[in-house]
Amino acid sequence: MKTGKYNIIHQNILTWYAEHGRVTLPWRNTNSAYEIYLSEIMLQQTQVKIVLERFYFQFLEKFPTFKEVATAPVDDVLKAWEGLGYYTRARNLHKTAIDTEGNLPNTAEELEKLSGIGKSTAHAVACFAFDEALPILDANVKRILYRFFAVESCNDKKLWELAYALYDKNNAYIYNQTMMDIGSAICTHKNPLCNTCPFSSLCQGKENPLSYPEKKKKKKKPIRKRTLVIYYKEDKYALNQNSERLLSGLWGFKQEEDFEMITNATSLGDFKQHYTHFTLEASVVLLKDKEQKSYFSIEEIHDLALSGADRKALALLESYCQ
Ligand code: SF4
Repeated sequence: MKTGKYNIIHQNILTWYAEHGRVTLPWRNTNSAYEIYLSEIMLQQTQVKIVLERFYFQFLEKFPTFKEVATAPVDDVLKAWEGLGYYTRARNLHKTAIDTEGNLPNTAEELEKLSGIGKSTAHAVACFAFDEALPILDANVKRILYRFFAVESCNDKKLWELAYALYDKNNAYIYNQTMMDIGSAICTHKNPLCNTCPFSSLCQGKENPLSYPEKKKKKKKPIRKRTLVIYYKEDKYALNQNSERLLSGLWGFKQEEDFEMITNATSLGDFKQHYTHFTLEASVVLLKDKEQKSYFSIEEIHDLALSGADRKALALLESYCQ
């Protein structure tokens, strides 16, 4: 019989997970550290539904093993990541595959040394793939901790202390999976369902959960106005491979900051693209020019990894060409 301050919570969690846990998720039904790690990376910025429907299986079909990621060109990995966004994740995944020769280490301490693997991801992979009894601290877990301990604001160091204080080290796998399930379905941002929550009996924030953590004023995102110029010669279009950190490795049309519309340029339309730190407001124009470096047919462009903005520009080009 275990004793401890949070025994009742740990018992509630085991019962709750047996009844409501998302046990059919594919990454909960594999021992492959690669598949678990891939899911953790994909889920960092993207909802489970989207990862399941559009990316996880498709990526694994292309790269069934981590060794195949290691031997693939980064362009192929970026192409498989296309549409998922936050492409640094794909570049780090590729680098990690190369650095480990397709064999992930089996401890959180070693995992955390690899590119793009933070402490929480290292703990998640070590716990889910290698049974290391460690807590995790993703955005959902943070929100539960803020509310459970009625903390309005604190830094990550303090949150890790709270995470260690609350977790069930005898059942770390189920505890961590439950934290993720509760965070996405019960202790949600706007409408926490405290009556059905396994933390409820000891939760210090349940009387007023929306007070925790305290709301920070959202800064208005700056707007970047650009012209995407699609240079062409005959029936081919110019694209460059990006070297900017955000979109490094992706192909794109030329972006001009101060493009002056000229009579032989054709306007194809406008679009907006939202990024984490800014919104791009783009006009797309078509312009004949023979001086660019690399030209591609539309079929060839479809085989390149493009950013979301460039895919929108491509759609405008295709509808113009029809
Ligand atoms: S009882 Fe309510 S506030 Fe507390 S963890 Fe559960 S859902 Fe969140």
